[in-house]
Amino acid sequence: MTVNCAEQFASDNYAGICPEALDYTLKANHGSAPAYGNDDWTRRAAEGFRELFETDCEVFFAFNGTAANSLVLASLCQSYHSVICHELAHVETDECGAPEFFSNGSKLLLGKGEQGKLTPAAIDAIITKRNDIHYPKPKALSLTQATEVGTLYSLAELDAIGAIAHQHDLKVHLDGARFANAVAALGVAPADLTWRRGIDVLCFCGTKNGMAVGEAILFFDKALAEDFDYRCKQAGQLASKMRFIAAPWLGLLETGAWLKNAAHANACAAYLAAQLQQIPGVELLFPCQANGVFVQLPPAVGDRLRAQGWQFYTFIGVGGARFLCSWSTTRARIDELVADVRAAIAAVPRPA
Ligand SMILES: *Cc1c(COP(=O)(O)O)cnc(C)c1O
Repeated sequence: MTVNCAEQFASDNYAGICPEALDYTLKANHGSAPAYGNDDWTRRAAEGFRELFETDCEVFFAFNGTAANSLVLASLCQSYHSVICHELAHVETDECGAPEFFSNGSKLLLGKGEQGKLTPAAIDAIITKRNDIHYPKPKALSLTQATEVGTLYSLAELDAIGAIAHQHDLKVHLDGARFANAVAALGVAPADLTWRRGIDVLCFCGTKNGMAVGEAILFFDKALAEDFDYRCKQAGQLASKMRFIAAPWLGLLETGAWLKNAAHANACAAYLAAQLQQIPGVELLFPCQANGVFVQLPPAVGDRLRAQGWQFYTFIGVGGARFLCSWSTTRARIDELVADVRAAIAAVPRPA
């Protein structure tokens, strides 16, 4: 059997398992260990997160980001509450209604904002739009860092947003599918991007950082974590062999690979963006601030690239193509992609 395993840029979850995560998985694969998270790997990984984030947070693990986000939002809200998020937020566009399902109906209230980011004004407008009994009461704010379009909230932006949220007693959830990329790009401590900015809960994605599977959920406001373990179990998210999620996490934390992987992916994306921008007819749709590059390509160019075997998403508007870099992205493969884009642009007639 032949398998086409050429590196692709469709998503950072197309990449395999990074060596550090694999190494610790193998290390954990000796003998037996207590199940359901009562093992030493899980204890050590949770302790590792507390050290990294410089605070005594509650740590849980789930299989994927959809579950982590949904279960967190469900624990922040009653069914009659609402969650404010950006209209491009993964919780709105890519979780099949799971946040509403697991919360028994908490409604997502969508805000607009440039570059995939909510603004204090947009949030304030949603909060203050209604305060009567006929409208679901805003109770949580969900942000994504880095955003779905590869941009970053600055510390100042997070402070301004956090102030509005807490002034109105909203709990703040951070979808950290690419949290490591944000930390690497901004060059700050994880604590500076989370609880020091008023973030109450973080879903920190391991999969996109180099693991096979696994999401860490960090409650900085420990009171909000009450019974969260029951919620995970009921939702089918309690891994019986938890050590195989916890050990690779420990590998990423102890070796520093979580940050190295993210910095590598970011550097690759910066290089890809710089190369693509030199091609006449290619325009960046969003500033490249983390590991994603979004470009406007004529549809015929996209078709030609696909016919050549390139895989990528085009869900951001007409002609918007997304390329993501990961821990395993290579310069050589970026150069191949850039060469094929250049050739495709030259071969396809430009619209007059
Ligand atoms: C990938 C991703 C997730 C998690 O997706 P799963 O497929 O459920 O692991 C969550 N948020 C964002 C912004 C993502 O890109």
